[in-house]
Amino acid sequence: MSVIDCERVLIKHKFKYKKAFGQNFIFDEDLLDEIAVAGGADGAVVVEIGAGAGTLSRAIAKRCKHLSAFEIDETLFPILDETLGEFDNVKLFSNDVTAIGIETVDMLIGEPYIVIANLPYYITTPLIFLFLKSELCGSITCLVQKEVAERICAKDGSDYGALSACVQSVAEPKIVRVVKSWDFYPQPEVDSALIRLDRKAGAMLTDKADKFYKNCFMQKRKTLVNNLTAAGVDKNKLVSALNELGFNQNARAEELGTQNLQKLQALLDNQ
Ligand code: SAM
Repeated sequence: MSVIDCERVLIKHKFKYKKAFGQNFIFDEDLLDEIAVAGGADGAVVVEIGAGAGTLSRAIAKRCKHLSAFEIDETLFPILDETLGEFDNVKLFSNDVTAIGIETVDMLIGEPYIVIANLPYYITTPLIFLFLKSELCGSITCLVQKEVAERICAKDGSDYGALSACVQSVAEPKIVRVVKSWDFYPQPEVDSALIRLDRKAGAMLTDKADKFYKNCFMQKRKTLVNNLTAAGVDKNKLVSALNELGFNQNARAEELGTQNLQKLQALLDNQ
């Protein structure tokens, strides 16, 4: 079966694309292969979020040891039965991954894995955060809106914010390539980028750290002291921790950068 056959199966089943599920599929075989290879599918245990018509799943399944693919839209299952039927290393789950939570995903997979996905736009960030909180996920390679990719990878400037700090505190992000909007069907309004996030050894995003970074950047124009005291942090402790890191009380979160924000959180925790 080729990608064109997958399109035929969609037509045969009179499949209707659902915007609410972020359904923008990819049918370019070379691009699909490139995504699977960039994600490190070869011989790996892979999790895919949003199998769609199974086009990316096929590119992954050809290479990987085992693929667990989650799909929320049940009308796609008869289609996936046909497009993925030839693979005995693929398991499909009819779950909303955000609803079942990361502990359940980790339990279902039961061994170290990587994520490769063309993520639904409407929940890109929650999905990335979910897998950064996994105990078993080693890397996340996914397509996201180009602007989101730029914010994830920004080290400074106006793009640098809570999203950049959260991701960079536990992973090394890089943009693999830009993917134009016309490479998707239906065509979205914006371009995408393929990003790869490699987890730093032993690093895991905690709910506490996630909340801390969000509080730091709560109002970007305000100082860190204003933002964190509004979130209940003691001002004296905060100013002394900032001084210890070589910053004064007028510093903004972006001036500190991810490493210093991490150190600040540790200092506040230990005080
Ligand atoms: N992988 C396919 C491809 O590249 O052509 C489809 C990608 S499409 C951008 C996103 C897919 O994720 C859709 O099939 C959608 O139904 C599915 N999806 C959306 N929200 C989901 C969720 N919360 N859990 C699992 N799958 C979801």
